[in-house]
Amino acid sequence: MSRFFSEKYASLIPYTPGEQPQKTGYVKLNTNESPFPPSPRAVKAAYAEAKRLELYPDPECTLLRKTLADTYGLGMENVIATNGSDEALYFAFLAFCDEKHPAVFADVTYGFYSVYAELVGIDYREIPLKDDLTIDVNDYKNAGGTIFLANPNAPTGIQLTKDEIEQVLSTNPDNVVVVDEAYVDFGGESCLSLLGRYDNLLIVRTFSKSRSMAGARLGYAMGSAEMIGDLNTLRYSTNPYNINRMTLAAGTGALEDMEYFVNCTKTVCENREWAKTELQKLGFTVTPSSANFLFAKHAQIGGKELYEKLKQRNVLIRHFEKPRIRDYNRITVGTMEQMNILIRTINAILEEKR
Ligand code: PMP
Repeated sequence: MSRFFSEKYASLIPYTPGEQPQKTGYVKLNTNESPFPPSPRAVKAAYAEAKRLELYPDPECTLLRKTLADTYGLGMENVIATNGSDEALYFAFLAFCDEKHPAVFADVTYGFYSVYAELVGIDYREIPLKDDLTIDVNDYKNAGGTIFLANPNAPTGIQLTKDEIEQVLSTNPDNVVVVDEAYVDFGGESCLSLLGRYDNLLIVRTFSKSRSMAGARLGYAMGSAEMIGDLNTLRYSTNPYNINRMTLAAGTGALEDMEYFVNCTKTVCENREWAKTELQKLGFTVTPSSANFLFAKHAQIGGKELYEKLKQRNVLIRHFEKPRIRDYNRITVGTMEQMNILIRTINAILEEKR
């Protein structure tokens, strides 16, 4: 730390992203990326736009927002595009949390929520998941703060139903409820249809997972025109050109290729169910995931040990050294070839231990 660093941030512990090894050859199942490339339409559109990089991008993201609005049956004023959904979440913490509105989220959820709360300098309350790692919505009724719910939750993959989300919305009418639907396209139940009825609902989504565009950094949020206006005030106060030209074009291209999106997400769901069954056959306890990853533990091998042994064998998964979940690992669902390697390698590791 330099002697100039603001005292405000001296104790900030930044978010630790998953490893992005520069060495190739790993079966990379650690950061919930898609195992498939982006839609050819997205690639073509980005390529064409690369030739116009001398010009600033459209700060209103008009075409992308129009396509998003049309895709989800909303008005353009209900949509904001962001540099990854992390930026939408950051804006939501800035916009909707303060001394009167502390943040409220689960004790086991997306690790960035507590980092943003610390960065923004607001209090936050973590509500423990139940022993089975599910969320009890009763704990979120009249929660007295701005609620952040990842649905499906990360890293458990377990989802709440739309009815349960509605119970949270209706019992917190004077607080914003941010529903982070990063993984909803893999079989989760979206609460999109509640948008017209609850002005306290903000939905945050990403192109990183189901649209195979983690490298492009594109997310978006959907909510009332007023709430989206608040987020835009912050966006225009920080980085009005937050989405680059190639990403804007790629995003629109990806949305136009519905068939590709449907095929990729369907394949990931099928591969997830196959891998889940195989892991269970090997003795793992696996949470019921509605996301593009599995969360699993084994009685004979600790989470860290399995992670390390897999890494030695060029298979990367994600381990979180957090008390409640350190027995588990999060495994991104890949292609069938990758899933076969995963299962074979785990089998060999378990054999060695016997
Ligand atoms: N929300 C959740 C629950 C996530 O797991 C992630 C991915 N790490 C994000 C948001 C952020 O994704 P991105 O910024 O790539 O859109």
